[in-house]
Amino acid sequence: MPQPQRILIPLPLALRTANAWLYPGRGGDPSALVDSGIGTTEGYDALRQGLWDSGVDANGLALFITHGHVDHAGNAARLRREFGALLHAPREESPYVETFRRDSDRRYAAYTKALKSHGVPVEEIAKMQQRGQEMDPWHEDVPIQAPLVDGQRLQLGATSATAHITPGHTPGSTVFATEDNDLLTGDTLLEHITSNAIEVTDRDKGRYAQYLRTLDGLRRFVGMRALPGHHDPFQVTDALLDNHLAKHEARSRRILDHLDGPRTAWQLVPEVFPRLVHDQSFLGVCEVVGHLHALEEQGRVLMRESGGKRTFLRA
Ligand SMILES: [Zn+2]
Repeated sequence: MPQPQRILIPLPLALRTANAWLYPGRGGDPSALVDSGIGTTEGYDALRQGLWDSGVDANGLALFITHGHVDHAGNAARLRREFGALLHAPREESPYVETFRRDSDRRYAAYTKALKSHGVPVEEIAKMQQRGQEMDPWHEDVPIQAPLVDGQRLQLGATSATAHITPGHTPGSTVFATEDNDLLTGDTLLEHITSNAIEVTDRDKGRYAQYLRTLDGLRRFVGMRALPGHHDPFQVTDALLDNHLAKHEARSRRILDHLDGPRTAWQLVPEVFPRLVHDQSFLGVCEVVGHLHALEEQGRVLMRESGGKRTFLRA
């Protein structure tokens, strides 16, 4: 059985590295790559070197992305230019892949409004935006040439696989299940980290709850080997999924414990994440807001809005 080759991409982020998984072509099937790493100079150099070292013919590469975040899809445009790579992704990833840079002003305006309503001080919002704007150039807008749908059969080099759309981390996050019993999980399932649904605007409401349903739904892949978007392969087990779901539930309980009086999401961040480092504060707020929205939906929390500020209270 041909084994996929891992190309390790350095990241200037807390995760440190991202994976691109290469499936060499055979006969008429072109080589395929799942994820393309981050579009920094170092990121693209590592990817190019990895393709070169593998000895595959990268021309006409079939590129599949697990989702459109910059550390997974950042090099898609360059791969298209240099190797004529054909980009496969679900339409739901379009805001990250096709219009991410073009829509950045609108995105920051929507984030600013939402963060203000959740009590984040303006100087903190400015810092979050600055960090975001440092990351934006690591992606280049690129058209999705081959849209993927849920359940689609596809070819990863000599290996056949099925795409399963598993929304939550992003609306079109996809896992690829191969005939060799591998599951390319992107950020939908990592071994040691619970993924973030980046839910902060009202438009994104429900993404965190959706992510929990996706996590539970991954049980149908128990027994497979996960080839994740970051770090080493691991086994998909019920125990791992239970553990991730239990961590989320514990966070919700911690939030409820601190809602004996009205609090903003921003006030809850240090209670839920006491060890959060400064540059992760945006993700921290998103995680808390996702939990609050889910708790509100379940009738366990009440939201009050006054003067444009939102507070939450245990029901
Ligand atoms: Zn991601």
